Amino acid sequence: MSTQSNTDALALFGGPKAIDRAFVRYNPIGQEEVEAAKAVVESGVLSQFIGAWGEDFLGGPRVREFERKCEAYFGVKHAITVNSWTSGLIAAVGALDIEPGDEVIVSPFTMCASATAILHWNAIPVFADIEPDTFCLDPRSVEANITPQTKAIMAVDIFGQSADIDALMEIASRHNLKVITDTAQAPGALYKGKYAGTVSHVGGFSLNYHKHIHTGEGGILVTDNDRIADRLRLIRNHAEAVVGPMGETNLANMIGYNFRLGEIECAIGLSQLNKLEALVQGRQRVAEYLNRGLAGLPGLRTPKVREGCTHVYYVYPMVLDIAQLGVSRARIVEALTAEGVAGLAAGYVNVHMLPMYQKKIAYGSRGFPWSSEICKREVSYAKGVCPVAEELHESSFLGFAMCLHDLSEADVDLIVAAFHKVWANLEALK
Ligand SMILES: *Cc1c(COP(=O)(O)O)cnc(C)c1O
Repeated sequence: MSTQSNTDALALFGGPKAIDRAFVRYNPIGQEEVEAAKAVVESGVLSQFIGAWGEDFLGGPRVREFERKCEAYFGVKHAITVNSWTSGLIAAVGALDIEPGDEVIVSPFTMCASATAILHWNAIPVFADIEPDTFCLDPRSVEANITPQTKAIMAVDIFGQSADIDALMEIASRHNLKVITDTAQAPGALYKGKYAGTVSHVGGFSLNYHKHIHTGEGGILVTDNDRIADRLRLIRNHAEAVVGPMGETNLANMIGYNFRLGEIECAIGLSQLNKLEALVQGRQRVAEYLNRGLAGLPGLRTPKVREGCTHVYYVYPMVLDIAQLGVSRARIVEALTAEGVAGLAAGYVNVHMLPMYQKKIAYGSRGFPWSSEICKREVSYAKGVCPVAEELHESSFLGFAMCLHDLSEADVDLIVAAFHKVWANLEALK
């Protein structure tokens, strides 16, 4: 590691940058995807879905092939493609027979869509706190937030590893709740030998451009439950027109959408799925190399992986000990960024702190659903309801985006050198 440069002035103060070149952009799309997409375009059949009961209700040949391959890969009974994982989350909440006013417990340390999918059905998101080391829902906080209105838990496998799903499923079974997992960031992560996302009632993955594998936009729902799968397929494709001919009699939440993914995306998805394991291993190798390079830097905690699990590092999550460092995170990020480290972030703005929750204005302007009689109690989104998540976002969490660049060991050496240089100059940052 280049300790030499530690005597240089920080780039922030006009010294030479620790990283003097741009890194290669992460790009999992190659010639296989080009060929796969081209074949679909040449066939002229870019989507075969029809929103009526019949053979094409389930889509065309690539949709079906991709879904069967996902079922085999993830070891689930049903894989159901959707046009985004946001759509997938909406379908998942609806398929579980959530009623308006029901409460669903969710993590605040996530992308907003995890919680918005709950509100979408006029159910009420209740934010439970997270574990300080894995950043996933803390089962004790979940249990403390259960009320007679609680119907489900949405666990988020944030940054690339599974939530404590056994503990959450145990709580759910004691309180007769359903569990959804948002595994957008952890495709291929293992939880005690099974894939994260496959251990709850319904889970799934994002195929958005920024994720490990992608089809531009897209998502995959997974479940072992036949009835949930039927209802997911109905919500995906104009349920209200299909329930009659199909013979579905439970009309609850059978409000249909067009959440269908096209043939081009599924053809690309087939190639992407073949690459998933290698792409994940690439992130894991970079993370392990970073772990070695950053080990021992005072006041910096490298990622903790839950016992019996693997981490696929969508984000390489670190925590700063601000008291020990005596420098704010903002200042450290500023210094590292000036050295050329791209992709550092403060984690998620806690979802409950977003204006929609702070002002309780979602549907229309008068506070629906919180202000309506369907909401049985006053749910608080005040600062302080999730102190661990709030503190991490406000001052100590430091994430490094791992699906931004394809990093070689030489690249990681430069990043590590930048960290060591900044740490050697902390006094100057005070
Ligand atoms: C990306 C992401 C989503 C949304 O997925 P899209 O496919 O972009 O709609 C939801 N939750 C989490 C945690 C995500 O990272």
